[in-house]
Amino acid sequence: MISDQWLKSACYIDGRWIGADDGQTIPVTNPATGETLGSVPRCGRAETSRAIAAASRAFVSWRGFLAKERAELMFALADALLKEKAALGELLTREQGKSRAEAEGEIAGGAAFFRWFGEEAKRVYGDTIPSPWPGKRIIVTKEPVGVVGAITPWNFPHSMIARKLAAALGAGCTMVIKPASQTPLSALAVAALCEKVGIPAGVVNVVTGSAAPIAAEMCENPAVRKITFTGSTEVGKDLGARALAHMKRVSMELGGNAPFIVFDDADLDAAVKGAMLSKFRNSGQTCVCANRILVQAGVYDAFAAKFAEAVRALKIGDGLAPGVEQGPLIDMHAIEKVEEHISDAKANGARVVAGGVRHPLGGTFFEPTVLTGVTDAMKIAKEETFGPVAPLFRFETEAEAIAMANATEYGLACYFYTNDLGRAWRMMEALDYGMIGVNEGLASTEVAPFGGVKDSGMGREGSKYGLEDYLNIKYALFGGLGV
Ligand code: NAP
Repeated sequence: MISDQWLKSACYIDGRWIGADDGQTIPVTNPATGETLGSVPRCGRAETSRAIAAASRAFVSWRGFLAKERAELMFALADALLKEKAALGELLTREQGKSRAEAEGEIAGGAAFFRWFGEEAKRVYGDTIPSPWPGKRIIVTKEPVGVVGAITPWNFPHSMIARKLAAALGAGCTMVIKPASQTPLSALAVAALCEKVGIPAGVVNVVTGSAAPIAAEMCENPAVRKITFTGSTEVGKDLGARALAHMKRVSMELGGNAPFIVFDDADLDAAVKGAMLSKFRNSGQTCVCANRILVQAGVYDAFAAKFAEAVRALKIGDGLAPGVEQGPLIDMHAIEKVEEHISDAKANGARVVAGGVRHPLGGTFFEPTVLTGVTDAMKIAKEETFGPVAPLFRFETEAEAIAMANATEYGLACYFYTNDLGRAWRMMEALDYGMIGVNEGLASTEVAPFGGVKDSGMGREGSKYGLEDYLNIKYALFGGLGV
């Protein structure tokens, strides 16, 4: 059972728990069982405007906290997340569907972001620049951008918030968060922990409800100085354009179409392990998951056989059940997309060597699937599947692999496996992506910059670069100092 302490049914604005002005709510359901877990307010512009006003008032004092004071509160938040990891992980599994182990890992990962950016808060350094004039001095300081509006997706209900909020708090910004309507409970639980550890009222606000009016208020309200978004490329482009119309800073973490390349000289067992992690984490519903597996001709059949065997062994079920590795997909739209990609591939000559159909458990459970004989002519080559389908493409040469890998408008993550050092370096330089796993199937960590190029967005989360996205540069020229 979820502890009532973390199961909230109200929004958190200015340190108070409130409902929507008109009393409307949105139900939250468990994708594994269909059970209703609770409901959250369906807020709109008016409530968002009040949250922004609260964040503006709080910004005045929060930016004035000593960095170490902000850091202490962030460390307390990280500790509280770790202490409540089991309860928060259970809540996350219930609203999102992923396995409990992955859910608890996500909470721990979020805690790591608060700790990292708490430390980084103390290292917001400026510069002095040698003056070209006598009697004058030049200094550069960095200041928090101000109130930030954050909109986040359902696939990582905790960590997509943690990585934004941690950087914002460390920089001295305040935030209004609009979580995905399918998974708002983990966001509200973070707000409850912020309240518990003593982060001042108004610094962190969570508004649940209708995306369009909430986003419109965030984009148009002059008090908001930055919009940070994680979600689909389609929504991100629209939101980014609207934010830029009001000259707000933007960070966009959008969709991907990650290639996972296996060369003839790779360690095949390591490549299978990496592909399993990359493709099937969160049932394939991650922006960085392998969307296209490109295998060199010499090892194609051997890799396909080993990989399909590992895929058939995956344990599917309710994410709360012991040992389950794959939960349900988020909803029936996700199932339909997966089925569309499989049937299009089959119609164009691909072969199903594992899965390919809905799971006997019913609902939104789907069999982890491997397709062979996949080509660039198929939909799956171009679109993000966002589900447990692994399509295996064949290539002959390194040049062909590079061309295939880069033949997409996306540029988030990619992976390749080789034991040739020269090839590894050449590939790293030739691939048009923000993140590259070399003999690794997962690269996310709070200490490294996460983000993409091309249609996968702009800005970085995590690392020292992540903090820069929440800071403005100020240049001051001091004159009249005497020669
Ligand atoms: P989505 O439909 O774009 O939704 C993401 C968020 O945007 C939700 O909070 C949603 O609210 C809100 N939203 C929907 N329509 C909006 C609008 N017109 N204006 C403003 N906000 C709007 O994406 P999703 O299906 O939840 O997430 C999957 C996508 O996210 C995939 O493409 C995935 O690759 C991407 N993603 C990227 C990263 C990354 O770091 N690059 C990480 C994770 C996911 P409602 O829920 O209320 O509709």
